[in-house]
Amino acid sequence: KEEELKCDIAIIGGGPGGYVAAIYAAQNGKNVVLIEKDKLGGTCLNRGCIPTKALVRSAEVYKIIKNADKFGCLLQNPSVDIKKVIERKNKVVNELNSGIKYLMKKNNVTVLEGLGSFVDKETIHVKGNSREYIVKAQNIIIATGSKPYIPQIEGINEINNNNIITSDEALEIKDLSKKMIIIGGGVIGMEFAFIFANFGVDVSIIEYFDNCLANLDDDVIAEISRNAIEKGIKIYTGSKVEEVYKTEDNELIVGFLQKGERKYLRGDKILLAVGRKPYIDELGIEKLGIELNDNKRGIKVNSKMQTNISNIYAIGDVTDRILLAHVASHQGIVAVDNILGKEKEMDYANVPSAIFTEPEIATVGINEREAISKGIEIKVSKIPFASNGKALTYGDNRGFIKLIEDIHNKKIIGATIIGIHATDLIANITLAIKKNLCPEDIIETIYAHPTTSEIIHEAALGLEKGAIHFA
Ligand code: FAD
Repeated sequence: KEEELKCDIAIIGGGPGGYVAAIYAAQNGKNVVLIEKDKLGGTCLNRGCIPTKALVRSAEVYKIIKNADKFGCLLQNPSVDIKKVIERKNKVVNELNSGIKYLMKKNNVTVLEGLGSFVDKETIHVKGNSREYIVKAQNIIIATGSKPYIPQIEGINEINNNNIITSDEALEIKDLSKKMIIIGGGVIGMEFAFIFANFGVDVSIIEYFDNCLANLDDDVIAEISRNAIEKGIKIYTGSKVEEVYKTEDNELIVGFLQKGERKYLRGDKILLAVGRKPYIDELGIEKLGIELNDNKRGIKVNSKMQTNISNIYAIGDVTDRILLAHVASHQGIVAVDNILGKEKEMDYANVPSAIFTEPEIATVGINEREAISKGIEIKVSKIPFASNGKALTYGDNRGFIKLIEDIHNKKIIGATIIGIHATDLIANITLAIKKNLCPEDIIETIYAHPTTSEIIHEAALGLEKGAIHFA
């Protein structure tokens, strides 16, 4: 017999959308039930942000050790034990997972293990391994995330082996392949390309668009592509994969059309990285008539994160808006604020993005290409890391910052950073944009020396008086 529970807010999905919303709601006095069918932390902690970054770090450490002589340190014959790399990754994930469990307890959030599905608009059935529950809630937040999208490619289903993988399996890899073919040069594909190339794998990327990371400015794409190629990553852009097959000696062949020309690549592993799909399977939203977006992907929400059924909200990847962990968390806060009666709207204008390639890339606000296409008159200050003392001490002076000012109101409206610490540095500019700051505000701020953050100060100077350490 099912156990029955009553609460103010039930949340389905314990990723960075769901668990953050749960803590915030509990902190605001609500009685919260969080339903998770797998592990707390969701994709982000278990199969996404954190495990990839643990691998990025191992790959980076290996690269630094291989180049230790450049820093005056002499080491001999370093090598990678991928099993130990994965073990370390698991340790990081498990530590954070325990942290979330502890936070749930501390905040009196009831966590139910099992698959949640709608019975009606105020009732959820939870099917766990050994127990079942009925949860009655005044408000419900759907935070079920996304899963890898598997493209329809001829032959892909016929190959029954472990060598065609998605990011999920790439994070559990047991042996380093010799030749990996990555289909898709977006953020996930590019991050894995650098990880595996740093581990010594021969990596090729096949990308449908004319560039990898196609939304970035051309000079940023050129810089990251140059670094990829230098590392030995082969990039085939403007290429449509048409078939995959296995030869008699177990080699995988990918056939693709590049600008009308038929090409083939051989490899021993294929990583599919062509996007993700909102996860609405088994939720039973059809029977409530919860509307999807026009393209039928993801749950449709208004700016308050409310679905067409007013007591049901949806947040995170399942809304198919911007598939990033910090967006999911912020949407969660907005949803809870609206449940609490505070009128809040989700603002996507200043969402920072962080790409953990080598060097890292981070963006916020508008970039040069978008500004031009929208007819916004801008001034751009571009400063290379080669002029930054700290970057040189790190032995990494690649890349640059581009800081963008609207010339009419003098406000900072965007930035792209490609270079060392880019993903941390972007926070400073995100705050500047959020608070409507002008270059002058940054100029008047003292940045510690020697730090990579000084490049932001230099870029602001470049917009006004002229940079001091770069001419
Ligand atoms: P999820 O994290 O997907 O969580 C949803 C949870 O809901 C899951 O735990 C699932 O088991 C559970 N669930 C689903 N259906 C049900 C059900 N019916 N009942 C009960 N539970 C259910 N983002 C970044 O911001 N930075 C990064 O560096 C980054 N790197 C990434 C790297 C990779 C390889 C991948 C795949 C993603 C990465 N992302 C990154 C994206 C990020 O992981 C997602 O945007 C984020 O996890 C979305 O959070 P969410 O809460 O919406 O969903």
